[in-house]
Amino acid sequence: MTLRQMTLVLLAMCAVTTPCRAELVADGIHLLPGRFVRGSQPDGNTVIIEAPDGLIVVDTGRHPAHAQAILDFASRARRPVAVIVNTHWHLDHLGGNPRVRRAHPGVRVWSSDALAGAMTGFLADYRAHLEGALAQAGLDTSSAATMRAELAILDQGEALAPDEIVAAPGARTIAGRELVLGLETRAVTAGDVWLFDPATRVLIAGDLVTLPVPLPDTACTSRWRSALDRLDEVDFSRLVPGHGPVMTREDFARYRAAFGNLLDRAAADSSSTACADGWLHDIGPLVPADEHAFARILLHYYVDNHLRPAR
Ligand SMILES: [Zn+2]
Repeated sequence: MTLRQMTLVLLAMCAVTTPCRAELVADGIHLLPGRFVRGSQPDGNTVIIEAPDGLIVVDTGRHPAHAQAILDFASRARRPVAVIVNTHWHLDHLGGNPRVRRAHPGVRVWSSDALAGAMTGFLADYRAHLEGALAQAGLDTSSAATMRAELAILDQGEALAPDEIVAAPGARTIAGRELVLGLETRAVTAGDVWLFDPATRVLIAGDLVTLPVPLPDTACTSRWRSALDRLDEVDFSRLVPGHGPVMTREDFARYRAAFGNLLDRAAADSSSTACADGWLHDIGPLVPADEHAFARILLHYYVDNHLRPAR
C-alpha cells in the first residue's frame, strides 16, 4: 500500500468515526466538527474554550462518538471540563451532556430555560412519534437502532438540563474567562444562546448559522432574521456556526443575505426548486458542489414544510 493509499484509508476511517481531530480556531479555542451528512442524524459542532478553571465546552453533539471526542480532548489536555454551554436544546447539541457529566462530575451546564418547554412540547411529540414507529412491524434494523438511540437520549431527562439558566444577555465570567453571552428568544428555538470571546474575537453562533442550509424545524423565521442582524453588530473576526466550517465576516455577510433571500422567496410562494436554486446561487462557495444534492433535499423539505406561508 502506498502512502497516498494509506492516507485515503485513514481519511475514510475518519469519515465514519468523526470527529477525529480538533481544529484550532484561535488561541485557546478549538473546534470539534460535528458530522452532518445524508442518511444519518447530525452532530452539532463543539467548540472547546480553554479557561483558567478548566475547559468550557460549547455543545456536546448527539452520538456517543462525538461526546467521546470531547472527553479525549480533555484527557489529552489534562484539564477538567468545568462548564458546558448549550446553545439550544436540539438533541444534536446537548445529547452528549450526560456522558460529559459522568466523566467530569464537577461540570456546570449553562443554557436558556427552553429545554423544559420542549420536553413537554416538541420533544414529547417526537418521543410519541418514535415509540409509534418502533411499535410497527417491518421496520429495518438500522432505522430501529437510530430511533432507540434517540429515545435513549430523551430518557436521560435531568442529565440533559441546565444547572445555570441564561436568562438575559451580557458579559459573564465563565470558568474564570470573560465572555459575552447573547440570548435570542423564539428564533431557532424558544431560547438560543450565542457566545462572543472578546480576547480572540471569535463568535460561536449555534444554529443561528448553519451550513449547508438553515434548519428551521423549530424556528420563528422573522425573529431569526432579526437575530442575524444582531450577530452582524458583534465585532467578530471569525464565526463558528452550529454546523459547517468556520466563517469569516464576509462569509457571514453572504450567509445573512442568502438567508433573507430564501425567506423572501418562500414568502412569495416561489417553488421549492426556485428557492433551492436561489439559495445555492446566493451562498456560492460556502456550499461546495458535492453537497448540493444534500442541500437540495433539505431545502425542498424545509420550504414546503416550514418556510412557505400556511395555506
Ligand atoms: Zn444543530
